[in-house]
Amino acid sequence: MRILFVSDIHYSLKQLDWLCGAAPGFDLLVIGGDLLDLAGHADLDTQTVVVEKYLRRLGVMVPVAVCSGNHDLDAVSGEGERTAEWLVHLDANRVSVDLQSLVAGGCQFSICSWWDGPHTRDEVAAFLAGEAEKKGRPWIWIYHAPPDGAKTSWNGKNYSGDTFLTGLIRQYAPDLVLSGHIHNSPFRVEGHWCDKVDNTWVFNPGRQMSSTPATIVFDLNAMEATWDSEMDTQTVTLSGGGPIQGPGSG
Ligand SMILES: [Zn+2]
Repeated sequence: MRILFVSDIHYSLKQLDWLCGAAPGFDLLVIGGDLLDLAGHADLDTQTVVVEKYLRRLGVMVPVAVCSGNHDLDAVSGEGERTAEWLVHLDANRVSVDLQSLVAGGCQFSICSWWDGPHTRDEVAAFLAGEAEKKGRPWIWIYHAPPDGAKTSWNGKNYSGDTFLTGLIRQYAPDLVLSGHIHNSPFRVEGHWCDKVDNTWVFNPGRQMSSTPATIVFDLNAMEATWDSEMDTQTVTLSGGGPIQGPGSG
């Protein structure tokens, strides 16, 4: 089971093109949110149409699991919270989205929405409570914001992750949590592309302004995760419990 994980594409068409070339070599593609860019040159309606086409194309090649990020919100719910309606209603073959569950390679993947307020946050909590009932498989969450306090949430000045997620990880102890959102944490000395919250491995590939995205490849047979970016390539063994060293050391 090999998983390609990217996040924070922010409507980079070159990076989306690169994904279409790379995805067929993997068993699953995970996109950790922020596919669109609120500050982008194209208006949001155009961006959703274009990204939808890419997701449908990718789904033909490989199963895809994609969660919403804070740049993906195009609508307001009845409760007055911003939501990624375009993604939830995508209905593309082999593309799983917010609040959907996917079993691939013997693992259970739970895809969480970006929450803009208490109603959506409660939906995410209820979804994970339901997912927790399905026991017996390695459990992997896809959740745009990284858990607060982990190195994957270091923005260069402080930890700016999601404290609610940190609590959920402590409550349910999933095996892996795949996030993004804090673009520079892998590239800063005090940050990292991976860390642990209790016994849960947490990841954030970061965002790079390049024709290729920063990637994390999970080889779940070898129990390894490899981060590849313009700065460095590093591998961790997921079964090992040793301390994580800073970027540039591996
Ligand atoms: Zn982002």
